Amino acid sequence: MPTRFFNTYSRQLEEFRPLDPAGRRVKLYTCGPTVYNFAHIGNYRAYIFEDLLQRHLEARDFEVERVMNLTDVHDKTIRGCRQLGVRLAEFTQKYKDAFFEDLGALRVKRAQHFPAATDYVAQMIEMIRALEQKGIAYQAEDKSVYFRLSKFPDYGKLAHLNLDELRPSGRVQSDEYEKESVGDFALWKAWDENDGDVKWDSPWGPGRPGWHIECSAMATELLGPEIDIHCGGVDNIFPHHEAEIAQSEGVTGKKFVRYWLHCAHLLVDGQKMSKSLGNFYTIPDVLAKGYTGREIRYALMRVHYRTQLNFTWDAMREARESLGRIDDWLRRLHEVAGDKIGNDSDIRRDWRIDNQFGHEFKDALDDDLNISAALGFLFETIRDTNRAMDRNELDASSANAWLNWWKRINAVLALEMETIELPAKIAKLAEERAQARLAKDFRKSDELRDHLKALGWEARDTKDGQKITRRLGA
Ligand SMILES: [Zn+2]
Repeated sequence: MPTRFFNTYSRQLEEFRPLDPAGRRVKLYTCGPTVYNFAHIGNYRAYIFEDLLQRHLEARDFEVERVMNLTDVHDKTIRGCRQLGVRLAEFTQKYKDAFFEDLGALRVKRAQHFPAATDYVAQMIEMIRALEQKGIAYQAEDKSVYFRLSKFPDYGKLAHLNLDELRPSGRVQSDEYEKESVGDFALWKAWDENDGDVKWDSPWGPGRPGWHIECSAMATELLGPEIDIHCGGVDNIFPHHEAEIAQSEGVTGKKFVRYWLHCAHLLVDGQKMSKSLGNFYTIPDVLAKGYTGREIRYALMRVHYRTQLNFTWDAMREARESLGRIDDWLRRLHEVAGDKIGNDSDIRRDWRIDNQFGHEFKDALDDDLNISAALGFLFETIRDTNRAMDRNELDASSANAWLNWWKRINAVLALEMETIELPAKIAKLAEERAQARLAKDFRKSDELRDHLKALGWEARDTKDGQKITRRLGA
């Protein structure tokens, strides 16, 4: 089964074929955060979808070269640094650091390039000059430079908009008088006093780049004029991605992007996330409630990327349960596998398992990244092998083969439990409690459980012994 993706541009499922003649190298551009604030879980839903995409392509033997930009010059970052009276770089650094910390917690694979817009202003100026020379850009009376939409008839094709609808009507007021047409967007914004010391010299005078040209310039500089896949959230489609196409194709005359993939919105408790509704969460907010990064990863990943995802605390608890099922399964497999070391017949067995089960998992993801089907298949497989273990029908070699199979699945999902390092004090109390239970001193064991609880940890007794997890605050 070929790998297929839904291309926003054609509104169709298309077989994926990269531009590389050998069909292996994939150039992937993903719009990154605007670093004026902490990114929220809705942003990370998109980044996790892109991570799943990259990991699946790699599992299919593609070599992915990925760029994720950091928008560090933008109306919002300028407003932020001016309000605090600090330099732009100082203001954005805090949010860049927080972003990388979150990516780590969520196990998002690092892109090869994380370009910051402020490091590519020269390339942006060069691109705007090229557009100006072709008559596709012009400087208006307000000294800003605009893209001349009338020179790019394909504008609106990605968002499936009719360009005529964007033309000025009689009701457009005079504040747009500088532009030739109301839809023309800024490539270069002339400096004004609200920008403070945030400015660069350019052939059009001091100013700063517009947001859209940032991505066009960074993508072209790092990946070349033609990109295989460009991703972002659905709210990026218009005008941001539409403008990226116009600018890049305006300069190069080549098709900028072969496949556009967009991730749907995230809702919280069925509503749009907003600070005023009190349902606005960052990753540290969710971690502070006692959840782990991998639990958040699972909750944000488990729904197909083109379907709206409703984030709820119930769904977080379900994520913990689902991951617990995987953890328990792996623990059992390890017990059955013992210290079994593979031999020739095991390789054949490995191959058989991978052939039967690996394909079904990957086929699901080949179908426009159908993660629900892939996870459904994984849990079905877990249930079946658990039953075989219940009946003592799984021998050490098979258990070992399943563990090898899981390694390949986990390379895509990145959901395996890390060994939890308990803080020394907690580890000591947990050990004392385990000893008390062995000595059947249940009064002491209960006291220790309460003590752990007061410190924010929960002790549960399972048939595999005591389990210690962070308590949930939600
Ligand atoms: Zn972008």
